[in-house]
Amino acid sequence: MEGRYLRYVLNFKRPSGTSRGVLTTKETWFLILEEGGKTGIGECGILRTLSVDDRPDYEEKLYWLCNNLHRDPEEIYRELTEFPSIQFGWEQALLSLRSNDPFLLFPSDFTKGTSSIAINGLIWMGNPDFMQEQIEEKLNQGFDCIKMKIGAIDFDSEIALLRTLRKRYSRDVIQLRVDANGAFSNQEALQKLEVLSSLDLHSIEQPIKAGQPEAMADLCRYTPLPIALDEELIGVFSASERGELLNHIRPQYIILKPSLVGGFKACDEWIDLAGEVNAGWWITSALESNIGLNAIAQYTYTLHNPMPQGLGTGSLFTNNIQAPLEVGNGMLKYNVSSKWELPEAFHIKGGKAH
Ligand SMILES: [Mg+2]
Repeated sequence: MEGRYLRYVLNFKRPSGTSRGVLTTKETWFLILEEGGKTGIGECGILRTLSVDDRPDYEEKLYWLCNNLHRDPEEIYRELTEFPSIQFGWEQALLSLRSNDPFLLFPSDFTKGTSSIAINGLIWMGNPDFMQEQIEEKLNQGFDCIKMKIGAIDFDSEIALLRTLRKRYSRDVIQLRVDANGAFSNQEALQKLEVLSSLDLHSIEQPIKAGQPEAMADLCRYTPLPIALDEELIGVFSASERGELLNHIRPQYIILKPSLVGGFKACDEWIDLAGEVNAGWWITSALESNIGLNAIAQYTYTLHNPMPQGLGTGSLFTNNIQAPLEVGNGMLKYNVSSKWELPEAFHIKGGKAH
């Protein structure tokens, strides 16, 4: 087996406000495996400043991987423990290599195009007018679950936006999720959760900063609004640490981002552990290109979780990889009549992976 990697910079169509500031580009890495005339592709979707593997030796680890492909795949996965996005790229590339179609990792009714995945419509941070504009757009597109990033503008303006939306649509019509990305201080968090809970929200992600298990456990105990852990799961590598964290905090939900937690295998483990403490979960993409999003979506479908998932689409980027993933009516689907097209930079014959 031969392997190589490729750095790729995705350009946002419009600068996107996140908890890590306004982004105009998103770096990502592809792992390309070749064996017996077949090709496998995986995406290592590092999120600079948020991923635990945002470290100076990231590329060195990819180089190591490409030079150690003779090793046992499980052993490689373990060696990559501190590099969850490379673990995930490795899992994808192997599945892709071993599949008849390099983009078909988990064949299902989803990949046949006969079934789709419910997803939430994401409202990016910005000024109230921009956020309102996005809300209208998502409603027009038929989303019935909307997730709004909060904590960027002032709390009262955010509450006003949510209240206007809630006045128009009850929780039976539109499910509302919010994500604070750790923006609340420990002192004010509970009070803010109480205000938010009057808006009939489904849940709030990460009300306070990660890494404060005592404070988070207290919040999860007294909150009037279900709490979902997100950043809290980053960098928690062993099964025992994962179990301890959930046992201690007892969250209502956890959010699994395969690129940040270590791929399919890590998600499977977190899901089992969540079951032990009666925590719900959903899967979320993390600004991957369509290669990574495709892998996440196909995996997610096999889990048959009826809740809307956080599978943001590739429509954010001007130079995304052309893929059969489409969003309509709040659902992500695989359009079998569309084709994959890889950019020249992949150096795969005829632009095809075979
Ligand atoms: Mg989040």
